[in-house]
Amino acid sequence: MIQKTEKIWHNGSFVAWDDAKVHVMSHVVHYGTSVFEGVRCYSLPQGPAIFRAQEHMQRLLDSAKIYRMEVPYTREQLVQAVVDVVATNGAWPCYIRPIVFRGYGEAGVNPFNCPVETYILNFPWGKYLAGEEGVDVCVSSWTRFAPNTLPAMAKAGANYMNSQLIKMEAHLNGYAEGIALDPSGYVSEGSGENLFLVRNGTLYTPPLGSSILPGITRDSVIRLARDHCVPVVEQMIPREMLYVADEAFFTGTAAEISPIRSVDKIPVGKGAIGPVTATLHKEFFAILHGQAEDKYHWFTPVPVRAAKQQGA
Ligand code: PMP
Repeated sequence: MIQKTEKIWHNGSFVAWDDAKVHVMSHVVHYGTSVFEGVRCYSLPQGPAIFRAQEHMQRLLDSAKIYRMEVPYTREQLVQAVVDVVATNGAWPCYIRPIVFRGYGEAGVNPFNCPVETYILNFPWGKYLAGEEGVDVCVSSWTRFAPNTLPAMAKAGANYMNSQLIKMEAHLNGYAEGIALDPSGYVSEGSGENLFLVRNGTLYTPPLGSSILPGITRDSVIRLARDHCVPVVEQMIPREMLYVADEAFFTGTAAEISPIRSVDKIPVGKGAIGPVTATLHKEFFAILHGQAEDKYHWFTPVPVRAAKQQGA
């Protein structure tokens, strides 16, 4: 169950959590007309701080632009709204969900006469993929969408019908997650995570052309790897690379860095977390927990006075 917070930001003002409702005839309910973000706020020693807020709000605006939804806020205004939501509700660490959708207007497919609504909310949320030793995953029988069908670069609600098929199939077959291939049969990504493989010391990840979401955690990991002199190659990855990789892991806001232990019951490497994954994992979590300096300026601090930290 979602743990409620007090207020939700809606088009520039706050409403009570229970009052943030939509009409069943809203365009989004019928046609999936939404774009959204998933953002995390961490608890640093100096207080709560939002991870890569600017990049998330930029991707939200990019997703909206692709779908011709006019958002009447700048990136900076949206970042400020995210900060205000966390400061107002005072619940951290937390997950933040900004969402833009087409509301109540007309019944047909044409979205233009349905108003664009913007909401931002936050709630406590822990680990997404359990398992410190790595997760067991499968290759999905579902593929990601072909180019020029649904735009993979947009984080749109409708894309997650595909993700749900991948996730349900994986769970019903006893796996933690499914890896989808792209329409040409190359590795794409998990239902809600980007994918990385290590082979002979080089880090490989699929390119944007393989129907992936341009993940912000993916970008952070590429940056960390390059700064640790790990070669990074963005290239199309044949399925069998999954079976012969030395290491593999998922990245995502929810999943953070989640090591993969097996794919289709074939152990990844020796079936234990490898050295490249371990180094990146350690570095990334040191930054996220404020034990290492935020040298990339990835955090936006949230000014709070009252100590309403989760569990406090
Ligand atoms: N791919 C998909 C399909 C996702 O839903 C997500 C989660 N937003 C990601 C990749 C990872 O993106 P990010 O690191 O920006 O959360």
